[in-house]
Amino acid sequence: MYDMIIIGSGPAGLAAAIYGQRAKLSVLVIEKQPMSGGQIVNTPDVDNYPGMPGVGGFELASRFRAHADTMGAEVIVGEVTALELSGDVKKVTTEAMTYEGKTVVIATGATHRKLGVPGEEQLVGAGVSYCATCDGAFFRGKEVAVIGGGDVALEDALFLSRISRKVYLIHRRDELRGAKSLQEKVFEAENIEIIWDTVVEAIEGEGSVERLALRQMKTGEKSSLPVQGAFVAVGIQPNSDLFQGLVDMDESGYIQAGEDGVTGTPGVFVAGDVRTKRLRQVITAASDGANAVTSVEHYLYQ
Ligand code: NAP
Repeated sequence: MYDMIIIGSGPAGLAAAIYGQRAKLSVLVIEKQPMSGGQIVNTPDVDNYPGMPGVGGFELASRFRAHADTMGAEVIVGEVTALELSGDVKKVTTEAMTYEGKTVVIATGATHRKLGVPGEEQLVGAGVSYCATCDGAFFRGKEVAVIGGGDVALEDALFLSRISRKVYLIHRRDELRGAKSLQEKVFEAENIEIIWDTVVEAIEGEGSVERLALRQMKTGEKSSLPVQGAFVAVGIQPNSDLFQGLVDMDESGYIQAGEDGVTGTPGVFVAGDVRTKRLRQVITAASDGANAVTSVEHYLYQ
């Protein structure tokens, strides 16, 4: 019986493991792939984690994992297939076996929705990005496109407009979905141009992004837009399907909890991008992991 079973080994899960070991809890981390670090593994440069300027995502992930290992955390690879979270003893079943714990910390993260167009996958990290605050600095003085019309796309366009020379905001409709206050700022920004009713059909370039193949939805007209960066902001999906009906979620599937990570299900905690929160970054995920352990200790010993 573990004191704490952590599902997920991104920054949130590994921070929880480190804090859990320091708190002398018995900790099991279950990771789906034999690769810790979550989304940052695919981020070429993190660059906004304090004290580690220019660190690569893979390297930062490796350091988090090494730190958890040094502290003695047990990490196993396994896909969780079933859960029993309601009683005092939580049961987490993988394809191999069932583990029992007094508490469970859900740290399964989120996945950026992809456009699913040719060139997108091949050019990730070479101009295609899903995180403007992570990668925007690499596009200083360049021309970039943001794809999407929600809050994230608008915030990304505004953020990039302060760095890049020109920002094209490409939206599939003639009306933006994002908050009116953000829309106003976007309309006012001199270097943001909105391309309405348009979809990206392909991201093209030899080794890095050079242009986007566009199609106007109403006229069917095709065109080519030269840009060096393509920021895809068409929504993210929390990795929470497994927990449907077991913990409270918002309408988008994020697990509801405050900064303390306490869910509505006793003994079940949530940390990182899968939690309802405003800013999804490595630093906030790591912070969530630490906070969740404090809540676990409170649950176990108070
Ligand atoms: P979102 O609100 O779901 O918006 C996604 C946008 O991408 C929509 O404009 C959508 O178009 C477009 N889109 C979806 N699939 C597409 C595709 N295949 N091709 C082209 N366009 C596509 O997602 P989000 O902006 O990531 O925001 C996620 C959540 O976080 C939202 O609830 C948002 O309000 C919240 N959030 C809040 C704040 C804030 O409060 N400041 C900041 C950031 C995020 P349509 O409009 O046509 O559907």
